[in-house]
Amino acid sequence: MDMPTTQQHRDFIRVQPSGIHGTGVFAKRPIPKGTRVIAYAGRRLPKSQLQEEAARGERQLTYVLNLDKDTAIDGAEQGNEARFINHSCDPNCEVYCFDETPYIYAMQEIPAGAELTFDYMLQSILSHRLSRALSRELFPCNCGAPACRGTLIAPPKRKRAPARHAAPPQG
Ligand SMILES: [Zn+2]
Repeated sequence: MDMPTTQQHRDFIRVQPSGIHGTGVFAKRPIPKGTRVIAYAGRRLPKSQLQEEAARGERQLTYVLNLDKDTAIDGAEQGNEARFINHSCDPNCEVYCFDETPYIYAMQEIPAGAELTFDYMLQSILSHRLSRALSRELFPCNCGAPACRGTLIAPPKRKRAPARHAAPPQG
């Protein structure tokens, strides 16, 4: 059996209990701004499959990261330490994809001992958008940031949706 891949993360991080939620990832030593800290490893799955398995209760979505429109990565399978990075509404890391692999980057100088976070911008895998109240109930955020939006669900997009799917005007 293959061991889960840990990729190279140049020994910047350690996994330990977090005040935000469960287990978190912390800086072992100062991490310079712009550092590629670790790849987000995991099994790639079509979102349609995730939705079906989640609906049947066969898959938890705790460590699922959006990759693109059709594909997600489940860090619960073949994942690495990156899956333990907690969400914050005021994060110090960001995810960027290169060659279809998501990487966690430090978007600011992170002091030794600080917890690493990124904004999950969770998109509901449901076909419809959750109300704000339901978002907070089902996916609550405890990041403690002053600007905390109270949920891991992404805020509504400001961009205009393409007109071709626009609903007809209501009476
Ligand atoms: Zn928050």
